[in-house]
Amino acid sequence: MRKKRSLPTLILGLLIIIIFVAGIFIFVQGDRLTLGRNTKSTSVSQNVSTKSSSVTAKTKTSDLPNVSSDDWALVLVNRNHVTPEMDPDLTQIDNITVDSRIADNVRSFLAAAQAIDANEHLISGYRSVAYQEELFNSYVSQEMSADPSLTQSAAEDLVKTYSQPAGASEHQTGLAMDMSTVNYLNQSDTDVVEKVKTIAPEYGFVLRFPKGKSESTGVDYEDWHFRYVGKESAKYMTDNNLSLEEYIALLKENKR
Ligand SMILES: [Zn+2]
Repeated sequence: MRKKRSLPTLILGLLIIIIFVAGIFIFVQGDRLTLGRNTKSTSVSQNVSTKSSSVTAKTKTSDLPNVSSDDWALVLVNRNHVTPEMDPDLTQIDNITVDSRIADNVRSFLAAAQAIDANEHLISGYRSVAYQEELFNSYVSQEMSADPSLTQSAAEDLVKTYSQPAGASEHQTGLAMDMSTVNYLNQSDTDVVEKVKTIAPEYGFVLRFPKGKSESTGVDYEDWHFRYVGKESAKYMTDNNLSLEEYIALLKENKR
């Protein structure tokens, strides 16, 4: 009887079926795994783009502090906003004077900075427009005597990279101060500067002329110049990497 299949043939047939089914299963699973990986990477890149677009969105509207661009703490003095003598009410702290409204903030910020590095000290605070003029002119004379080939205007341009002409220095507001571990610009330990810069917003301050912002501020990097803008604004500016010029423009765009 040749019709009856032998046992080995049956086993062989069964094996073929098992291998076939297993093959389909592995193929489908593998595809699902690939799909899973794709889905995951897609969702990661979506997260990144969501994050960056939410930063842009946040910079434009939602998280903007409820402050007016006319707030006294946001007064803008630079070479495009030359301002006459402001005559602020002053309080002396150590060897400098500051606007009395921020005296407490300066004291606590200084103490916090000294906790990071005991050498932190105040170097300059309020400077009158008249004094700034003297200072600027003395720098121009120094540059011209150091290099007699410099014309007056070339010397002035050179000095403008590190000092402001009368009426264009933020020091006349009484809201700015230079604070460092040393008496020379950009000579402080960078780790200390980074730490002090990080805590500054807790006291309402920002490092006013950070790296990479000279196009907007008009001033090269300064590791010692801190500006009071108020805690809310300082935090927002720091979180969104905005200079005071950019922040005020943003407030105005949003009718603040
Ligand atoms: Zn300064």
